[in-house]
Amino acid sequence: MLTLLVDDDNFVLHVLSHQLEHIGREGIISYTQADLALAYLADNPSTIDLIFCDLQMPGMDGIEFIRRLATVDYSGALVIMSGEDERILHTAEKLARAHHLNVIGHLIKPSSLGAVEKLVAKVSDLRIESNAAPGAYSSDDLDNAITQGQLLNYYQPKVDLSNGKIVGVETLVRWAHPKDGLIFPDMFIELAEEAQLIDTLTRVVMRMALEHGCEWRRNGIDLGVAVNVSMDNLKSMDFPDYVQQTLNETDYPASHLTLEVTESRLMSDPLATLEVLTRLRLKRIGLSIDDFGTGHSSLSQLRDAPFDELKIDRGFVHGATDNRSQRAIFEGSLNMARQLGIKAVAEGIEDVSDWNYVLSTGCNFAQGYFIAKPMPAGDIAEWLSQWQEFYTRLNDDGDRQPGAIQ
Ligand code: C2E
Ligand code: CA
Ligand code: CA
Repeated sequence: MLTLLVDDDNFVLHVLSHQLEHIGREGIISYTQADLALAYLADNPSTIDLIFCDLQMPGMDGIEFIRRLATVDYSGALVIMSGEDERILHTAEKLARAHHLNVIGHLIKPSSLGAVEKLVAKVSDLRIESNAAPGAYSSDDLDNAITQGQLLNYYQPKVDLSNGKIVGVETLVRWAHPKDGLIFPDMFIELAEEAQLIDTLTRVVMRMALEHGCEWRRNGIDLGVAVNVSMDNLKSMDFPDYVQQTLNETDYPASHLTLEVTESRLMSDPLATLEVLTRLRLKRIGLSIDDFGTGHSSLSQLRDAPFDELKIDRGFVHGATDNRSQRAIFEGSLNMARQLGIKAVAEGIEDVSDWNYVLSTGCNFAQGYFIAKPMPAGDIAEWLSQWQEFYTRLNDDGDRQPGAIQ
């Protein structure tokens, strides 16, 4: 696969090409004009898996390039470069992500070999996307998938930062599509909500999760289980009874179950939702406010609903060490959790500096690829036995990569 460099400064292109070649990237194509780079991409789709793009360029600038890149369905990795203020770089990154581009980071010019090397290493870590495009599935496809048992649960561990103990797992649903492979939930949750399939989906996912939770307990692994629920689930008044019944049938303790709630769509009936949430809490089921800080989860929800956990969105966690705005929001959210007397979870710990930063803030729990990627239920026991050893080493020398043990 080829690498595409776009910068109006020939010297920058020259240095970066050398650095890339030095670390073994072959096939580098450079352009000083963004429109020509786009034309190349349009003619040669799927030959490029990495693009470095400058922000400040005469003619088409980096921001416009990013917007156009999204329209040519580029699915490789993107690195944004600038000699500008880091905040501008972060904003550009966000913009690119909002266009569903795979931004693997940014590069402050002049580029250092170490920084380029780190970025290139991330290209191979990119999630292997299925061939399916958004909107590729109909509600009938999903309906069939649910009834034919094609949904699978993956589980991502949640660690107590004060002692490294795994306190629970978050359930993340996958669709094992017979032709397209493993499909991630961002491809079908919205569809499930629109097609009124979300109740069935949540019930299937929850039952599987509680059954796995019981199986772990039988094997001496006592883990809490968190299940993501949609606001739409909380509209049905019989939802708490359904959850209670499933807990009874699977013999899983209510206090070990947490429901994670994101306000993905507007609350159509806030009173009814509040009633459902309160009844769930009365049953000792944990309630977690998910993606906190993203605008999906509002402060008024936190004020009104009986949440006992707050998950700080990964947008404020990963990279916080060198982003003052992120740290301000992270620490603000953490303080709010403390004052409300609820636990805080940091999502999206991707590297050792995220880990060290979050640890230093006194946040309660952590989740992220650095600790473990989501995995099938059967892998949890083996992962657990390795985690303790890595955690010990992490404490000893501070910069191991436990995520690498999978
Ligand atoms: P979420 O609840 O915020 O879940 C965390 C997502 O971040 C997961 O993506 C997880 O794989 C990913 N993640 C975990 N650690 C890291 C990290 O260190 N770095 C990065 N970049 N990402 C990380 P996934 O599995 O693709 O799920 C996406 C979203 O789909 C979830 O976001 C959740 O909102 C939704 N979802 C998943 N399962 C269900 C479900 O059963 N029901 C409903 N209603 N929604 C679900
Ligand atoms: Ca979640
Ligand atoms: Ca989240």
